[in-house]
Formats: sequence, C-alpha cells, structure tokens
Amino acid sequence: MSDCIFCKIIERKLPAKIVYEDGVALAFEDINPQAPVHTLIIPKKHIPTILDLKEEDNNLMTHLLTIAKRVAKDKGIAEKGFRIVTNCNPESGQAVYHIHFHVLGGRHMNWPPG
Ligand code: 5GP
Ligand code: ZN
Repeated sequence: MSDCIFCKIIERKLPAKIVYEDGVALAFEDINPQAPVHTLIIPKKHIPTILDLKEEDNNLMTHLLTIAKRVAKDKGIAEKGFRIVTNCNPESGQAVYHIHFHVLGGRHMNWPPG
C-alpha cells in the first residue's frame, strides 16, 4: 500500500535496521524502542489489523510467531522472558495500520500493561 510506512520499509523506500527477512515476512528494530530489545515482525502482505485476518492467513501468522521466537533467541532474551504484543485499533494505541508483532524484552515487564 503506497501510504503505509511498513510497506515502504519492505520496499526499501524507507530505511530500517532489518534483522530478518524471508519471502513473506520482515523483522526490524523499532525506531522508538520501549525496552532494550524492541523488534517488530511484519508480514510482507499488507493487512491493516487483526480484524482483517482471513483463514488463508493462518500459516502466515504462525510463521510470524516462529520468527518472534527466533528473534528472542538470537537476542538472548528467550530464557529470561519476553513479551509479544499486537495492538488493534485506536484504543489499544495502534499507530501503524499494517499488522505487526512487537517483541519486547531485556527488562522486567509489568502486568497489567498500561
Ligand atoms: P503500534 O502503536 O501501531 O502498535 O506500533 C507501531 C510501532 O512502529 C511503534 O512502536 C513505532 O515506534 C514504530 N514505528 C513507527 N514508525 C516507524 C518507522 O518509520 N520505522 C521503524 N523502525 N519503526 C517505526
Ligand atoms: Zn502496509
């Protein structure tokens, strides 16, 4: 999608610190990290929110979780603990309408989240 920041990152029209890429997904560092580790995992397919997911996206979303696991292991936060977050719609704080998982770790996480 032409006006989507994350699609622009996928197309290399915007710079990002990419840590993983394959044919259907991308992982890159969040520009405004909220923890020592804050990596975003996105599908290359433009899907605005969790509400837009279709049955055919099931494998893709599971694949994103597998990448999140890999990022957590690579960054050394897997054993201590980490959090995977996805926001949906304004009240959650979603700012970019291209589905993404936040992988957060490297510090203690509070519960409930803010
Ligand atoms: P949301 O609030 O939609 O769940 O999360 C969007 C995330 O994308 C935020 O954590 C924000 O810091 C990050 N972000 C927004 N614009 C950019 C950008 O241009 N580059 C990168 N790397 N991250 C971005
Ligand atoms: Zn997009």
